[in-house]
Amino acid sequence: MTPQQKKIRKMLEEKQGILLVHYYARPEIQEIADVLGDSLVLARAAADSDAKVIVFAGVHFMAQSAAILSPEKTILLPRLDAGCPLADAATAESVRQMREKHPDALFVTYINSSAEVKAISDVCCTSSNAEQIVGNEPAGRKIVMLPDGNLARHISSVSQREIIAWEGCCPVHQALTPQEVAARKREHPGAPFAAHPECHPDVLALADFVGSTSAILKFARESKAKSIIIGTEAGIMARLKKESPEKTFILASDVLLCADMKKITLDDIEKSLTTMQPVVTVPQNISRAAKKALDKMLSLS
Ligand code: SF4
Repeated sequence: MTPQQKKIRKMLEEKQGILLVHYYARPEIQEIADVLGDSLVLARAAADSDAKVIVFAGVHFMAQSAAILSPEKTILLPRLDAGCPLADAATAESVRQMREKHPDALFVTYINSSAEVKAISDVCCTSSNAEQIVGNEPAGRKIVMLPDGNLARHISSVSQREIIAWEGCCPVHQALTPQEVAARKREHPGAPFAAHPECHPDVLALADFVGSTSAILKFARESKAKSIIIGTEAGIMARLKKESPEKTFILASDVLLCADMKKITLDDIEKSLTTMQPVVTVPQNISRAAKKALDKMLSLS
């Protein structure tokens, strides 16, 4: 541990705080995480923890989810401008209009969404549990999934159900092209390609495995392949190498880099713990309604 990493750990201890870190965050932050995980793991950790302070190294919607699930805790997001263009793809007003068009549909909302959008949704999901959440509904139930159209189409395909897909996307995963994947496959013959469901359907069509970041890590641990091509954000590479040091991981493209996920630095975390700012809060009326959708997800997965 560097002196700064040690200092942050000490500050967390003094403030009875924990550091929740997403797999896409900077590697030096991942190294000192109390909990390192994908959105589902981090949401659970926020709900279950008895810490007084949660420092989130991720993006804004994740810190909001922690604030909704644990309103009694202080939730720090060291950089408030760490946002998510996918979450911004659905506003509460546009979702309300969609609900008017489909009054009988179940609205399944990806955790990558604002608290306001969660508050007018029936249930949340993550890429780890979306199939399970949809599978829980009786056949024939009309489902709208938002805001990630690629995830919705993937779940529709694997669950063999009709799903109305919102037309949002993650610009990072969407930027990966089938041509790039085909080139990596030619360069590394025999290496399986593991992709995140936020990728375009033409990219997923080339995948040997499709799953959330946690599922990709599990696939990599269990695969007999010596080399694996990775189709998700570059931050996962540090964890892959740590968990499976004997294997070679090839990032499918350099475009797989989320600038928002890299905004928070160790300096930002240290400053945030010193000033106890910026705090993320959600107004009570929105928080209560959004919590129902998040709690329903946690109870079903
Ligand atoms: S990787 Fe995509 S979905 Fe994740 S925070 Fe970045 S823009 Fe949002």
